[in-house]
Amino acid sequence: MSAAHPTVVHSARVVVPMTAPPIADGAVAVRDGRILHVGDRSWVVDQLDGQPFTERRWRGALLPGLVNAHSHLQYTGMAGVGQRQYQGFEDWAAAFNVDYALPHDWRAEASAGAEASLLAGVTSIADIVTDIEAATVLGSYGLGGITYWEVMDQENQAWQEHGRAQVLDELARIPTTPGAGLSPHAPYSLDVAPLLELPDIVRQRGLRLHLHLGEAAFEGERTALGPVPGLEGVDGVGPAGGGHSADWHLANVPSFRAMRALGFGASATAFVDRLGVLGPDCHIAHGVYVTAADRALLRARGTAVALCPRSNAVIGLDPPPVADYLREGSPIAIGTDSLSSSPSLDPMADVTALHRIARSQGYGHRDLHERLLAAATLGGAHAMGLAVGPDRTGHLAVGARADLAVFDVDARTVPDALAELVEDGAGRAVATVVRGVVRATDGIVHPTVLDARSASAPVPELAAGPVDAPTPVPAPVRAPDPDPVRPQEER
Ligand SMILES: [Zn+2]
Repeated sequence: MSAAHPTVVHSARVVVPMTAPPIADGAVAVRDGRILHVGDRSWVVDQLDGQPFTERRWRGALLPGLVNAHSHLQYTGMAGVGQRQYQGFEDWAAAFNVDYALPHDWRAEASAGAEASLLAGVTSIADIVTDIEAATVLGSYGLGGITYWEVMDQENQAWQEHGRAQVLDELARIPTTPGAGLSPHAPYSLDVAPLLELPDIVRQRGLRLHLHLGEAAFEGERTALGPVPGLEGVDGVGPAGGGHSADWHLANVPSFRAMRALGFGASATAFVDRLGVLGPDCHIAHGVYVTAADRALLRARGTAVALCPRSNAVIGLDPPPVADYLREGSPIAIGTDSLSSSPSLDPMADVTALHRIARSQGYGHRDLHERLLAAATLGGAHAMGLAVGPDRTGHLAVGARADLAVFDVDARTVPDALAELVEDGAGRAVATVVRGVVRATDGIVHPTVLDARSASAPVPELAAGPVDAPTPVPAPVRAPDPDPVRPQEER
């Protein structure tokens, strides 16, 4: 429009908006870090009505930036743990604890994680932080998402005496840019009092909640023992005859572990639900050991689940019931988890793993490719409450943040491109755009640029030249451009 507000048209052979059907030879016009138009390339250009713009013609497929809905960037230096194979949760936790106790530069290791994420096409992250030095990384890399301060190992008495005050103090130090939240670690690592109060602390401030749930096998529902010994009138077995042990809350149990020790078989999901943890402002990670009733509970509460299948495999857990989540219409997202339990921070590798798992679980619908790509973008934004509102992301639509990712795929049709992305998309991100600023191209992370006007300045070269030979577009305007508002040539 003007030199102060340049328009950039990002075009590609395939554009996948997520909230509209995929577009062959599509484009996204961007101004001031937001999406101005999305559609057929020729239509988008027409909409600009002769206004000057710069075009970046990308090879492959253009998607919303990926949303990694569960990670711990500060553990990026713990890849030595994540590259081994474990026999289950406790086996992995022992190895994790040994490495965690070693000296770490959490800030530097989290920064390495942020760079790896940008190189993988990720623009927003649900980042769980356990050491305060790592808390500023999303903001300093210009990434979107939420920094969740992790709370664990809090017993009831310690929580009352000093735990609550300590968490309030720590929460005040978590930057609110891009967003802040709390992560009660898991139902088995926190007693009832902190599990009851942490959601209130978050909700009083309008922040977000995220926890590990149904990750370890012992969180799954158990058949209860029957009447609870020593507790008059309290039955460990539910009335429906399903062994659901609905009455545990009448026994005034101090923790999940204590509930199980008393003979109640309630799942961890049912347990935290009774404490009021779940809700649309909360999303969970893993959701592996969940029954159909647990999944229905999550849906009823509006709680999305971030599936992390490669992490589950490294730890030696079962694969998540992705086919059930899909058939039942549960809101799903995708997370890599951290390098302490996963081979990489590339969510597309988890997309591929979920595709394989869904097929092996009998999911045969033709929508699988589109739904898994949606989970890695729009689903992650939805899980964190970022899919709506003035700063919305995860989809390509007018007014949304211009968070884009380009993947180098060879396929020439939309269905083939989606299949290639889902079944073999890891390592293919060639460009990552955050708020309209090109932040990574071809394996190189570009410095944070806060001024959108100089957005293209640090980018040495476009990722791809005029590679789409059959596409009738003029040669791309390369960045850095001496005149960022040079008019597009007519055809
Ligand atoms: Zn995790």
